[in-house]
Amino acid sequence: MSGRPGTAGAAEAPPAAGAPDAPAAQAIEAELTWTGESFEPGMRVEVGADGRIAAVGRAGAGAGAPDGSGAPSTLRLPGRALLPGFVDAHSHAFQRGLRGRAETFPPAPAAGERGGGSFWSWREAMYALAGGLDRERFHALSLAAFEEMRAAGITAVGEFHYLHHDDPEAADWALDRVVLDAAREAGIRIVLLQACYRAGGFGRALETAQRRFRAPSLAAYWAQLDRLAGALDPATQSLGAVAHSVRAVPVGEIAALHAEARRRGLVFHLHVEEQRREVEDCLAVHGERPMALLLRELAIGPETTAVHCTHSEPGDLERFAAAGGGVCVCPLTEANLGDGIPPLAAVPAAAGRLCLGTDSNARISMLEEMRWLEYGQRLAGERRGVLADRRGRVAGRLLTAATAGGARALGLAAGVIAAGRWADFAAVDLGHPALADASADDLAPALVFGAGDATFAATCVGGRWREHRGGAVEPRPSPVAAAP
Ligand SMILES: [Zn+2]
Repeated sequence: MSGRPGTAGAAEAPPAAGAPDAPAAQAIEAELTWTGESFEPGMRVEVGADGRIAAVGRAGAGAGAPDGSGAPSTLRLPGRALLPGFVDAHSHAFQRGLRGRAETFPPAPAAGERGGGSFWSWREAMYALAGGLDRERFHALSLAAFEEMRAAGITAVGEFHYLHHDDPEAADWALDRVVLDAAREAGIRIVLLQACYRAGGFGRALETAQRRFRAPSLAAYWAQLDRLAGALDPATQSLGAVAHSVRAVPVGEIAALHAEARRRGLVFHLHVEEQRREVEDCLAVHGERPMALLLRELAIGPETTAVHCTHSEPGDLERFAAAGGGVCVCPLTEANLGDGIPPLAAVPAAAGRLCLGTDSNARISMLEEMRWLEYGQRLAGERRGVLADRRGRVAGRLLTAATAGGARALGLAAGVIAAGRWADFAAVDLGHPALADASADDLAPALVFGAGDATFAATCVGGRWREHRGGAVEPRPSPVAAAP
């Protein structure tokens, strides 16, 4: 199909012709459709049997069937607004198992001043979880996270996966396929961001729990990536390469991983500067901050996404964004862990390269991630509209981060309602009380700043729809008679 957007994640392909579970061709006419700029009435989105969008135009404009086989069934969605499904660019699904835990804290070091918990004390709880999970529990937690994502309007996830081994001594990589299986069961599109984890800190051996994360060598890492490539569902699954962080992978190996990822056409992600201690440790060992080190050692381009950048120097972040790098912010997790707030106000170039992640999945809501991305900047800077676009609008910029920005970071042909992209959608219930009185012009900010996930009536991945509990009000988005 010509004109299809680039797929740096590679390994994407339509299902084989005649596949038994291929989605039916359909044309979708929602009351409102998000164009990337605004919600418009009277749009028709045609979806082919390959699960991709075939054409987008005005309803009643005489568009033909997407596959030339006659008129597709028309899915009329009065009372619904059609959005591209959200793309969650950074998740650790198993950490769903910490929800409601790790929220009791030791006495403050100085009473009345500050809490006694920190990222590092949370990490101990996460290690205890990671060390104790068996395959069944790991699967159940992953499935629960992915199911919850769909109900929150998320149709694609970048799963930053580092808990690889069922048997840490054998380094069996047994949990990798469990993640893919759970995603398939939830019907969510996944980019398995396969993480390389090599050290327990700068120059330190792996600790006990970390041995379940380890790549015995870079060669073993790439050999496993090759095995995984052969196990993917090509319609919904692809791969990306990951160095966990500068503390978990020596910088020379990060550079080698990054170069090989580029050679293979894979996206490349890593955690960068989430915690001050990580920055201080890196300065002590390398004499440079992590981002500065990466800019010197790696040929950064659009394939690279830095996750967090909470404590990045604005100048470093500026250079990173100017080189094409993307920034993934995870506001709810960063708030939960007490990380801090990234300096986006000072770096407009980074604000244009944003995507969002649910990270620890203590709460799974892209609407909340969006609003707290802006709210964090407002609280830090004591002003409003920090992430506004050229027209002064914030909601559109936030929706772009949650859709097209995530798709770009994951190398997915998704995140935009346009021909050639995957038919991944979220259908918003315009009859929900939270959206009452919102005009088409108000809808984006009303959704982002005023609504919850119960406004999502249904989601669609690759042309296959699923209704959600919040959408149990008429009309239901099920196919109706063919268009006249
Ligand atoms: Zn993370």
